Amino acid sequence: MMFQSTRGAAAPVSFDEALIGGLAPDGGLYVPTSWPRYSPADLDGRDSLVEIGARLIEPFAEGGALAAQIPDILSEAFNFPVPSVPIEVADPAERLEVLELFHGPTAAFKDFGARFLAASFARLRRPQERPLHILVATSGDTGGAVAAAFHRRPGFEVSVLFPKGLVSPTQERQLTCWGDNIHSYAVAGTFDDCQRMVKEIFLDRDLATRLRLSSANSINLGRLLPQAVYYAATSIRRWRASGQPLSFIIPSGNLGNAVACVWARRMGMPIGEILLAHNANRTVPDLLETGVLEPRPSVATLASAMDVGNPSNLERLRDLHPELTALRGAVRAISVDDAAIRNRIIEGAARFGQVWCPHTAVAAEAWARLPQAERRDRSWCIVATASPAKFPEIVEPLLGRKVAVPPALAALFDRPSHVSALANGSDALREVLMSGAAEIGR
Ligand SMILES: *Cc1c(COP(=O)(O)O)cnc(C)c1O
Repeated sequence: MMFQSTRGAAAPVSFDEALIGGLAPDGGLYVPTSWPRYSPADLDGRDSLVEIGARLIEPFAEGGALAAQIPDILSEAFNFPVPSVPIEVADPAERLEVLELFHGPTAAFKDFGARFLAASFARLRRPQERPLHILVATSGDTGGAVAAAFHRRPGFEVSVLFPKGLVSPTQERQLTCWGDNIHSYAVAGTFDDCQRMVKEIFLDRDLATRLRLSSANSINLGRLLPQAVYYAATSIRRWRASGQPLSFIIPSGNLGNAVACVWARRMGMPIGEILLAHNANRTVPDLLETGVLEPRPSVATLASAMDVGNPSNLERLRDLHPELTALRGAVRAISVDDAAIRNRIIEGAARFGQVWCPHTAVAAEAWARLPQAERRDRSWCIVATASPAKFPEIVEPLLGRKVAVPPALAALFDRPSHVSALANGSDALREVLMSGAAEIGR
């Protein structure tokens, strides 16, 4: 299958080219030119994430170098559990579950996309080639997941840009604990600045080609598409158990995770409502309400991985649903402030025995605010995007106790830190990339 740019001014490319290219040359994002359609029965006999994922993703890779390797890539990438935990709510007519996407090596859902991308890139690489240099802007979790997925992989260099002082201390440790082929930069700016720097570097095609740059942000199709797999598998499981579609509430920032869910539904998966749960960064809820897109600087919140004022993947969402009415029919959105996040973390523990990270708490709050009739009419699934152990500074004082740290995460915390300061703006980034390339060339 071929992929085209959301801006329509770039030639369609294959799956492999879209993965390596990251951003389309016209500045747009790659989207499929057509959609495979399935009914749930087409997936009969397939139970695991890997089996369901292979059926879903293979048509996209068709005709390219990875076509025969999707099952292998998925088994390498998705090698950790993905439970959806039923929650006992007071009203027996309500059905609620929590999809835990945080059992990978860096304890956030970003592991799915990052590990799929790394497994794909490793198979596309030819020996003797100069290293591929992967650029990634992160609001916290992406950088750690990408670093973990590419750490010490021969033929790859990774530069991670994060907003200095705007990620949690625990996240910062995870971004800077690597060394070797991973370069971490604390940028004097916000996440939006980091993202703009990376985008601007890619628009300099000469430089991007010369330095063999690629992107691992959710602008990269290879991050986003594999995320459709857990929505497919989870909704299929519910469908088989009850004959009912499953509605998802997704903690959202750059909308990569949300678009993956919309795409899974587009392919025929039994998914009902898709509710985007945003923090105080209201760009998307405001767009749906007023019809006007007003990108704005991000504001810092407790759910910092969602502090995005100009979500990249909105472009993919609008590409699928250009008309406002259609967009409103496809997704709904809500914005939740920090006070509500704090309350919901406390409530989650008190009412359901659940310890939620601040991002998951945004989704849990969105569920609690649904009218009761809606909570009863549909089966709902709260998407838990990170482990609370990544945010002890926020969660522990609210609960008055320690949060258990998964062993994989604890191991990362013991490593020494490697980080450089970087000025805001693509000139500073260009400079370190050029001098880094000179060093690798020597
Ligand atoms: C990245 C992230 C989000 C937001 O996901 P998007 O795909 O950018 O919308 C939510 N929660 C956590 C924990 C994250 O790391």
